[in-house]
Amino acid sequence: MDPAVHRPVCHQCGVDDYLIFEFFTPALNGAPGTVSYTCSACDSFAGHEVPSGWTPPGWHHES
Ligand SMILES: [Zn+2]
Repeated sequence: MDPAVHRPVCHQCGVDDYLIFEFFTPALNGAPGTVSYTCSACDSFAGHEVPSGWTPPGWHHES
């Protein structure tokens, strides 16, 4: 798997406990899902592709 594609985690803190998800695009037509988020513990921001099937905790699908 492409190392750029991974579950969200704060690279400063090393955990996903403090993430606030800003934006999420589900996988569609073979294109990977993408997510962007901020860590509320250290204010670092990240955005990248996510593994297929992953959605942010509490994410509600529209369809
Ligand atoms: Zn952090």
